[in-house]
Amino acid sequence: MTGHRLPGDLPGGVLVIENAYLVPVTGPEIPSGHIVVRGDRIESIGPGPAPDLPGARRVDGTGCLATPGLVNAHHHLYQWASQGFAREATLFEWLVALYPVWAAMDAEVVRGAAGAGLAHLALSGCTTSADHHYVFPAGRGDLLAAEIDAARAVGVRFHPARGSMDRGVSDGGLPPDEVVEDLDTILTATAEAIDAHHDPSFSSKLRVAVAPCSPFSVSTELMTESAALARDRGVRLHTHLAETLDEEEHCLARYGVRPVDHMEKLGWLGPDVWFAHAVHLSDADIVRLAGTGTGTAHCPSSNGRLGAGIARVSELLRRGANVGLGVDGSASAELTSLAGEMRQALLFQRARYGPTALTARQALSAATLGGARNLGREAELGSLEPGKLADIALWRIDSFAGAVADPVHALVLGTRQPPLARLLVGGETVVADDELRTAPQDELGRAGVEAHRRLMRLAGERGVPPPPPRP
Ligand SMILES: [Zn+2]
Repeated sequence: MTGHRLPGDLPGGVLVIENAYLVPVTGPEIPSGHIVVRGDRIESIGPGPAPDLPGARRVDGTGCLATPGLVNAHHHLYQWASQGFAREATLFEWLVALYPVWAAMDAEVVRGAAGAGLAHLALSGCTTSADHHYVFPAGRGDLLAAEIDAARAVGVRFHPARGSMDRGVSDGGLPPDEVVEDLDTILTATAEAIDAHHDPSFSSKLRVAVAPCSPFSVSTELMTESAALARDRGVRLHTHLAETLDEEEHCLARYGVRPVDHMEKLGWLGPDVWFAHAVHLSDADIVRLAGTGTGTAHCPSSNGRLGAGIARVSELLRRGANVGLGVDGSASAELTSLAGEMRQALLFQRARYGPTALTARQALSAATLGGARNLGREAELGSLEPGKLADIALWRIDSFAGAVADPVHALVLGTRQPPLARLLVGGETVVADDELRTAPQDELGRAGVEAHRRLMRLAGERGVPPPPPRP
């Protein structure tokens, strides 16, 4: 099936969801209520049946839980093509093993990887995804355009962050010199990406951010110039920060300060910035992130897989800092679903701080409104409210999940998410009955496999054998 509409869907028409358990995230829950969608926006939400609206298409939400669509705040879609390697490695070991493989990628690899990754995300309730792409080997095609094409085909909102690295091994950085670019090339390409793709409109399905990779792979000049560019163009800033203790040691050795202090010196704290990970924070760091409105994207599965540590999420939230959730690149958290990150976040916090550390509703809020805030879209996304965009997940909770007293607990705590009866992006159907309706789901999955094979072949042709597949 192609196109974003089911038979009977009318662009700009009225759609009504009825009889569902509604969790708006920002307001009181409604055990049996309705949502009226007109065009791409939510017109009204309330208890009981919807008003009589001639011509409206009705979706019976009986036995379903309606939540805002989930917002993925950190990802590297290209990594779909390099999953399953360096399985027992720290972040730095894992990166050193994979950089030479990634140096071989081309636009075809990125297109296949992004299509599979975004389809997989949509099937876990995700309606908006960020992506941090920071490896741009020269002469390998337009990698950013390739992933944007994939997002358009899947039908989710997309916030690609034009990433960058300019400090290779010869300059004291971690990545090999072959995968870094020079400062001028990066700034020119980033400005061009904003000009070509960034749509600042309320209904936007495509916004670009500026995202130097991490403190151990970029120069201070790249950080300050990137911030100046982003603020000049009114786009957001993103980077990895405080992910591991190795990074902290690198910052202390190179800059004489810890990661958050380093960011502060570079002008990289503020409400237009969000950091991936933020695992190793001091008490003072938490206060500063909260006080400056700097957001974080918590990626618990990746942090667990790489043994990076457990972020102080419940303390950040208590201080009023914004926290979103991210699946992180698939090479460090294979096949991770965004719905599953809610569970992982809750369990990590409770394992560290006790059973009241993070509720299921707080985890859902982080996965929706928290992500929307990170992307600067809290006016449009992240909650079910009149006037916001109609990005809605309808989860079926009348089967196995129905035996759990609290539907939000059932959504967040299950190791297998409840079936997705419907996923709407701007009122248009992307998933129905657990199946992608915008593009052929199995073809996208197979294209992801082909992207993996192609990347391994391209790496082999460059004399880089992939890391051994088995111990
Ligand atoms: Zn990452």
